Amino acid sequence: MKVAMGLQSLNLRGEYMYIVSKCLLGENCKYNGGNNFNQEVVDFLKNRKFIGLCPEEEGGLETPRIPAEIKDNRVINKEGKDVTENFQKGALFSLKQALEKSKGEGESIEGAILKAKSPSCGWGKIYDGSFSGRLISGNGIFAELLKNNNIKVITEEEFKKEI
Ligand code: SF4
Repeated sequence: MKVAMGLQSLNLRGEYMYIVSKCLLGENCKYNGGNNFNQEVVDFLKNRKFIGLCPEEEGGLETPRIPAEIKDNRVINKEGKDVTENFQKGALFSLKQALEKSKGEGESIEGAILKAKSPSCGWGKIYDGSFSGRLISGNGIFAELLKNNNIKVITEEEFKKEI
C-alpha cells in the first residue's frame, strides 16, 4: 500500500522502523497534558518497529506547557515567549535518538507518522501564529528537519484517509 503525498510516498508495508509522534500513541505529552491517541496508527504499528518521540519535551519544555505557534520562522508561545531554541534542540535530539535506535537495531527508517498541524510535528499545514485556529502552508520544526534528512513524513490524518 502506498500513501500519496504529492511527490513523496510512504511504503506502509515496509518492515522497517517508523518514527511516531508520541502523543499519537496515547502518551500525555501534549501541551495541555493530554494526548492524541490514534487507534489506526497504534494498530498499524503492532508487529512493526518504531520509536515514539515528543520533540517538544525532548527540547526541555514541560508538560503541560503554554501552546506555541510558528510566526515569521520563529516559534512563539501564547505568552509571547520565543521558544524556537527549545523546538530546534528537541527536533535535533529526537532525530539523533531515532538514528541511533535504527542503527543499533540494523534497521532503516522507513518514514514518520506525525501529528498534524503541530508547530513541531505538523506536515503541509500548520497554525498561522495568531492562535486563532487559522491554518497556513508549512511544516513543523521536527517535520521539516526530517524532510531535510530525506525521511518521508505523513500525518495521522493522511494515514487515516489512506488505510
Ligand atoms: S511535539 Fe509532536 S509528539 Fe509532542 S505533543 Fe506535540 S505533536 Fe505530539
